[in-house]
Amino acid sequence: MLGAIAGDIIGSRFEGLGAVSEGFDFFHPSSTFTDDTVCVLAVAEAAMDGFDFNGNLRQMARRYPMRGYGERFWKWVTAEGAPAYGNFGNGAPMRVAPIGWLARSESELFSLSDAQAAVTHDHPEAMAASRAVALAIFLARAGHSPNQIKNRITSDFGYDLDRERSGFDLRAGETTMRALRSALNADCYETAIRDVMRGGGDTDTLSCIAGGVAEALHGMPAEIWDAAREYLPVEFIHFVHRFQLTRTMEFQTKFPSSSSLV
Ligand SMILES: [Mg+2]
Repeated sequence: MLGAIAGDIIGSRFEGLGAVSEGFDFFHPSSTFTDDTVCVLAVAEAAMDGFDFNGNLRQMARRYPMRGYGERFWKWVTAEGAPAYGNFGNGAPMRVAPIGWLARSESELFSLSDAQAAVTHDHPEAMAASRAVALAIFLARAGHSPNQIKNRITSDFGYDLDRERSGFDLRAGETTMRALRSALNADCYETAIRDVMRGGGDTDTLSCIAGGVAEALHGMPAEIWDAAREYLPVEFIHFVHRFQLTRTMEFQTKFPSSSSLV
């Protein structure tokens, strides 16, 4: 999850600008956390405490407005009781990383991934992309090689993880394929981030997803996290510590049945 948050901050200043130069600095005075980080932490909080993905996402987003939320997402956030709106954008896979770290089985993984996605992104493309990202993290944690993960994702989701993609595309499937390809082909966190940003586009979300998976595969470099955390409010650091503790001590919470999760 740290990899997703750092990825969001690193990608934030290049969003929508086109191609990014190869040797760019990861951190800059204009770097900032965006909606990606807020939503990742909202999902983490919900997963650790009551599974209210709907309520946690709304509350966290309201506490941190003006962070680059999509227009329709913001409408959903501010309209009390608004239903999911069939979103097929990349917001669901962008915020799922904590589920990949906390779930103890694939069935738990998929039901929690679906539950967090479905509160807004109840579209098959977004639900599948959320599952694919969560599964990549889950399998990496379990020691599967990048190639094994690639084969599994390709066969389960029909994703093409060989084609190079670039430019601005907010669809969940396209964003996820591009991010997974970079994370799975990389030899470390840093090369995954550099690779996914190369073709420009929705760089904060691409780098958030690639970073979340790259962390699980290759580990999180301490110096990158130390630099990233300087951009976060104290409250977020507390959330992260609580998440790390929960992860380390094993996820003890009892999950409700999948039918009551959404
Ligand atoms: Mg963003």
